[in-house]
Amino acid sequence: MNNISEILDGVKTVGIGGHVRPDGDCVGSCMALYLYIKKYWPEITVDLYMEQPRAVFSYIERIDEVKTEADQEKTYDLFITCDVSALDRLAVAEEYFHTAGKTVCIDHHISNKGFAMVNHVRGEIGSASEVLYTLMDPDKIDRSIAEAIYTGMIHDTGVFQYSSTSPDTMRIAGELMKTGFNFSKIIDESFYQKTYIQNHIMGRVLAESILLQEGKIIVGYIKKKEMDFYCITGRDLDGIVSQLRLTAGTQVAIFLYETDTLYFKVSLRSNGEVDVSKVAQFFGGGGHVRAAGCELQGTLHDVINNVTEQIEYQQKTENRS
Ligand code: AMP
Ligand code: MN
Ligand code: MN
Repeated sequence: MNNISEILDGVKTVGIGGHVRPDGDCVGSCMALYLYIKKYWPEITVDLYMEQPRAVFSYIERIDEVKTEADQEKTYDLFITCDVSALDRLAVAEEYFHTAGKTVCIDHHISNKGFAMVNHVRGEIGSASEVLYTLMDPDKIDRSIAEAIYTGMIHDTGVFQYSSTSPDTMRIAGELMKTGFNFSKIIDESFYQKTYIQNHIMGRVLAESILLQEGKIIVGYIKKKEMDFYCITGRDLDGIVSQLRLTAGTQVAIFLYETDTLYFKVSLRSNGEVDVSKVAQFFGGGGHVRAAGCELQGTLHDVINNVTEQIEYQQKTENRS
């Protein structure tokens, strides 16, 4: 596929879907595609399905139109997923995906095996939002579409910090900026800003983190009991694993939080020496070389042991190759 217009030929209804626990790239890419189709194909009915986006993204135009439930019997001519690495990661609208006449996956996860009829997966690109940009006509990208794409790009590149940032990323960001949105406000308020309680939790996790392998691995965790005490959910914990990774001397940062008694969401970040997508895939998860995730069951101690064992296996395999 070279252009979004190719898949819209003869289509009357489109569904768009993002992944569970939507991050900035998921929200940005889904919203950009939604706005683009709405504006330039007004004859097409388009619906966007996603779990409730965080309030920090409320500056994105029409975000209040997101459907958080698949509560009607419908069949779409076309269903498009954005930033979804595997079908079991698709949120809300899985039934619409299965019944759609045609399915398209726009993504950038190297672990993506291609679950749609048309799979446009560019593992070398830093964000699904950037992938989407390459499929749009640049002169059709207005300020509101640009804001959404820019949001996705900054979130998945850590504001152009991670190695997935390329000269193309910077060129595209420059093009988007020309539409005149308030980029520094978006960076501050959607990416860096934390609530008082989020800062408090981050401080606590960092203070209680443990070092393994003489500091090559750092582990941070939070148990359900503590999350309940502070009345927080997983979405309040964004940014903690990135901060752990910045500890000097670490190769891999592991962050775990308990979603249910003895069920843990595991986030992995690497400085590049260890491919954490392979570690996550071993446990049924996925992601990228430097950022990946999975879910595991067991005691905190067992989960940490199992994950570190796989990291050690990767360290040995990568040293050999
Ligand atoms: P996270 O640690 O949740 O921020 O995720 C890091 C990266 O790994 C993101 O690109 C996610 O899309 C991906 N990822 C996280 N959890 C999973 C999972 N269970 N299965 C597949 N990919 C995942
Ligand atoms: Mn994502
Ligand atoms: Mn992404």
